[in-house]
Amino acid sequence: MSDVIHLLPDHVANQIAAGEVVQRPASVIKELLENAIDAKARNIQVFIKEAGKILIKVVDDGVGMSITDARLSFERHATSKIKTAEDLFQLQTKGFRGEALASIAAIAHVELKTKREGDEIGTCIKIEGSQVVAQEPCTTATGTSLTVKNLFYNIPARRNFLKSDTVETRHIVDEFQRVALAHPNITFTLVHNTGELFQLPSANYRQRITNIFGGKTNEKLVPVNEETEILTISGFVGKPQFAKRTRGEQFFFVNDRFIKSPYLNHAVTAAFEGLLKDNAFPSYFLYLKVDPKSIDINIHPTKTEIKFDDEHALYAIMRSAIKHSLGQFNVAPILDFDR
Ligand code: ADP
Ligand code: MG
Repeated sequence: MSDVIHLLPDHVANQIAAGEVVQRPASVIKELLENAIDAKARNIQVFIKEAGKILIKVVDDGVGMSITDARLSFERHATSKIKTAEDLFQLQTKGFRGEALASIAAIAHVELKTKREGDEIGTCIKIEGSQVVAQEPCTTATGTSLTVKNLFYNIPARRNFLKSDTVETRHIVDEFQRVALAHPNITFTLVHNTGELFQLPSANYRQRITNIFGGKTNEKLVPVNEETEILTISGFVGKPQFAKRTRGEQFFFVNDRFIKSPYLNHAVTAAFEGLLKDNAFPSYFLYLKVDPKSIDINIHPTKTEIKFDDEHALYAIMRSAIKHSLGQFNVAPILDFDR
């Protein structure tokens, strides 16, 4: 009997990897926004058509790519962001897996336009299902523009699984807001079909929050600031009387990356003990800085879960910092008859 094992062709491997990285149009937006930020963009524009199902375009004014890099960027495990395994423990960038562009190019029609500052001419590449269909020098602004059309065109099951435009747009807005909240100094716009959903000027954290959630948010915010050896916390919690019946406005950022953490969420809720009505969820926008060596981001391809070395200590610091802030701002407990 002959041997039966063979290596999968690249385009098949890419398509499999894409299944993990790209669940829906919003996942593409997240990856492209993160790439633009890693490229040190100051202005980032996002255009979508039909909730990103037809078209997603992200334009940045970052560092751009050389001709060779532009082509290499679509190879799997091709990255400029890490070199060694040790680098994984001191990540300064959002990306490092070198998988996003390869994955996206495996399941969509992709057009890249890119130029570095000082280069006279840029590079344009078209890729469909991992195959380069065109590459030529072209005139384009400094920075990078990535257009992703017809997402999941070659995976009907995935395409059919996408929800209504309203739902998919909601997911996109969520991702967009998370990234925008993490980087208030960068200018962001989001345009859906022909309507502008967001136009966010460069701002500080408080202004960025109110630009996204409305001017009234400003008066709800109680600043939280704490610095310890293992953790620096800044940001805001919402005053208890404004707590909502849904979890809408709850954001943790660790080293400028949005993360989900039921455990840390519990620490916040614990700090609000006695101040909240039943079934009310406090708002929070908390920015945590920790030593990159003390976390592992590489648990899941989408990187929204991370593992902390010293979870218990973080919990205690956070809870007491928030309690302190709420106390300082004289937040009165809710009276019984208010329940
Ligand atoms: P990763 O971000 O994990 O490195 P990606 O597949 O997202 O992997 O991108 C591959 C590489 O392409 C990046 O490491 C970067 O060098 C380059 N790249 C991607 N997007 C941009 C961009 N908007 N501007 C400049 N370079 C980019
Ligand atoms: Mg990336």
